[in-house]
Amino acid sequence: MDRMYDPKSLKAEEFISHEEIMDTLAYAEKNKDNRELIDSILQKAEKRKGLSHREASVLLACEDEATIQRMYDLAEQIKKDFYGNRIVMFAPLYLSNYCVNGCVYCPYHAKNKHIARKKLTQEDIVREVTALQDMGHKRLAIEAGEDPVNNPIEYILESIKTIYSIKHKNGAIRRVNVNIAATTVENYRKLKEAGIGTYILFQETYHKESYEKLHPTGPKHNYAYHTEAMDRAMEGGIDDVGLGVLFGLELYKYEFAGLLMHAEHLEAVHGVGPHTISVPRIKRADDIDPSTFDNGIDDDTFAKICALIRISVPYTGMIISTRESKAVREKVIRLGVSQISGASRTSVGGYCEPEPEEDNSAQFDVSDNRTLDEVVHWLMDLGYIPSFCTACYREGRTGDRFMSLCKSGQIQNCCHPNALMTLKEYLMDYASPATRQVGESLIRSELPNIPKEKVRQVCEDHLEKIEQGIRDFRF
Ligand code: SAM
Repeated sequence: MDRMYDPKSLKAEEFISHEEIMDTLAYAEKNKDNRELIDSILQKAEKRKGLSHREASVLLACEDEATIQRMYDLAEQIKKDFYGNRIVMFAPLYLSNYCVNGCVYCPYHAKNKHIARKKLTQEDIVREVTALQDMGHKRLAIEAGEDPVNNPIEYILESIKTIYSIKHKNGAIRRVNVNIAATTVENYRKLKEAGIGTYILFQETYHKESYEKLHPTGPKHNYAYHTEAMDRAMEGGIDDVGLGVLFGLELYKYEFAGLLMHAEHLEAVHGVGPHTISVPRIKRADDIDPSTFDNGIDDDTFAKICALIRISVPYTGMIISTRESKAVREKVIRLGVSQISGASRTSVGGYCEPEPEEDNSAQFDVSDNRTLDEVVHWLMDLGYIPSFCTACYREGRTGDRFMSLCKSGQIQNCCHPNALMTLKEYLMDYASPATRQVGESLIRSELPNIPKEKVRQVCEDHLEKIEQGIRDFRF
């Protein structure tokens, strides 16, 4: 029997209905040259109200060069309107690579006997976080394999507490996002109480049959439990959740439709869509050869997906990690990415001292190996403001409150000065002289872009105080 498609259902197979995705793909294929329809979809997108999974899938199927350019131009414009030229910076922190799952694309899978298994102690965390603070990071995403014995929720909670408690020189981690396996409402409540920012969980693939093959063993095998995790997280009080697909596992058109359906589901049930969407692609890793997966996508397709996510869910942040090279990052930042990681290590430990080669615990190879200072400098050369802001979360502007900030058009009076002030802190405390010089002149040229005069004056005053050594101002 066919399952009913129902975005409001709490059952994975109903809000991510396979039949609905197949119908969507057929509809998109049939209409990929339908100029009139494509035109009307683009006109709707121009109103910045987003697109449905069906509409966006038609655009994804369209292969006409001029139309694709129109999508890119629109994505760029929407990005400018909603996010200005700010790019939020973060770093991942791998706590443990012990894992009981069998994910065939991940080197942490339980059967991998040659990868070094590591778990940071609380003392290790202090050292790693101190090193991250010394680079200038203020926002982390913690990562861990799934292992109820080695990495129980108590370990994650204790680690979060440790991370927030470390105050080294002028450094502080002000927002900890969490990327750990699907868990219970009770555990999500505990994460919320521990003060996490976004709960991130990648779906990996929305295709149930493939999902089950790609996750042959362990708790992650359960497709419904994994797919319904965000609903449990929201039930547990977490209102910023981050979605993602691991591109390369299944057909990208299928994943794209599934991803947007998931966003529509969260909006329909909880009144607020995902806070972020991540777009990782499979990378080479110990025991993992990406070419053994048939569905890899080229850089152009990747860029098209990023642009269409930007157009379809304008209020949702988009994250690009160091899985992508400098060149690819440069291209997709323009098309709508709002957050990037910098100077990442994907090994357990490795920030305070590099991991010896024979002791490799990394999850995947990174393609962008630059230091944070280099990434910050590069962004500014491209005309972006690297932002270390964590204000929304600390001011309680999460979930629908963050969305209303976006929708009210007040971002420029709030996020813009916050970006300038946190960049100023970075320049004072961590930047190289060359980066500092570029940054100071960027701040001067960006100050007039704060629309409200009063806000601009307060911001200028705070910038002076930062110069004198005071930290942590925010709107
Ligand atoms: N263990 C957690 C879970 O089950 O969701 C999440 C943490 S894992 C460290 C973060 C993500 O890395 C995974 O969700 C997966 O999408 C991604 N990943 C795993 N293997 C990868 C590979 N070879 N290349 C790129 N990304 C990979």
